[in-house]
Amino acid sequence: MSCSLNDLLRPDLRGGIAYGAPQLDVPFPLNTNENSYAVPQHVVDAIVSSVAEVAPGLNRYPDREFIRLREDLAAYLTRTSGVTVTAAQVWAGNGSNEVLLHILQAFGGTGRVALGFTPAYSMHPIITRTTGTRWVDGRRGVGGGGIFDLDPRSAVAQVRQHQPNIVFLCSPNNPTGTALGLDTVEAIYDAAPRAIVVVDEAYAEFARAGTPSALTLLRGRDRLVVTRTMSKAFALAGGRLGYLAATAELTQALRLVRLPYHLSAPAQAVACAALEHVDDLLATVEILKAQRDHIVCELGEMGLDPVPSDANFVLFGGLADEQATWQALLDQGILVRDVGLAHYLRVTAGTTEETEAFLGAMRRLAPTHRQEQ
Ligand code: PMP
Repeated sequence: MSCSLNDLLRPDLRGGIAYGAPQLDVPFPLNTNENSYAVPQHVVDAIVSSVAEVAPGLNRYPDREFIRLREDLAAYLTRTSGVTVTAAQVWAGNGSNEVLLHILQAFGGTGRVALGFTPAYSMHPIITRTTGTRWVDGRRGVGGGGIFDLDPRSAVAQVRQHQPNIVFLCSPNNPTGTALGLDTVEAIYDAAPRAIVVVDEAYAEFARAGTPSALTLLRGRDRLVVTRTMSKAFALAGGRLGYLAATAELTQALRLVRLPYHLSAPAQAVACAALEHVDDLLATVEILKAQRDHIVCELGEMGLDPVPSDANFVLFGGLADEQATWQALLDQGILVRDVGLAHYLRVTAGTTEETEAFLGAMRRLAPTHRQEQ
């Protein structure tokens, strides 16, 4: 008698749900926090010629240590954060999801624990579990702040209680949009002497003025990791390039778990060409931040409950039935994200046209879709 596939599947994966943000062909896709502005033509040309340069050499494996890319990423971080980051401190993968996976493969695993504070990025627990690491769902909003704020005292108490091997922080946080004070990061780091502390800064470039990066805390903290991505501000989600900064010793440890040649030659060429035009790619960031603030302001005026954001998206509450609103928006060609929080939806700040389409639809829907006070 043969076994069913379900019997053969790892027990801890049975009945699991795969990551599944809908990929629908709609006029206004505002559900995965991409940069809605296309890559400018002169950057497209630079990318194409960079890929053309490596194409004849595709018979050979790419540079396994992606030295040039690490140098370029280190230079970008150094220039924008004011903190000197060396190439040896940088690691990269196919999206920051892959560098997160490398961290879990190296520092998590069976018998080990990763702690995060939900609601946060939905892939943190999913990636954690794929490596056999136990996920602990920490809580936010236990202190005196807003319901989604991470209270440092509560976070420290939870870290002491669970003694994790890995702590996930997310700043600006997805899906709430709020950035984390560095005092909270420091307090959690000090309270977890056995843990790798990951600060996921996928949306760092969109933070409001005066929001410091956890890169400024790296010096002297050899268990701290700051992850970044080219998928958001850089408008390069399709290029699949994420990276991190940590100590050189930590990036060396990640070499133990990555697959050989994990970054293809075209992926490295695309990312390097993009980094040569970093200012042109980041030129849309201010426009997107303005759209984001406009969304917060307008939704508030409609009697809804938007959360002020440091990212390129806005979480908004005050909906009687978020699934009904999600469907009503989709019926008008606008795809937003149902993040599984009752009465809330999340919308990406897109082009001015996309933002107006969303706000126009919400103005029509708000009177009937608002939650009773
Ligand atoms: N971190 C956060 C907080 C995110 O929201 C995302 C993408 N939605 C990622 C990491 C992963 O992005 P990527 O793999 O494209 O770098």
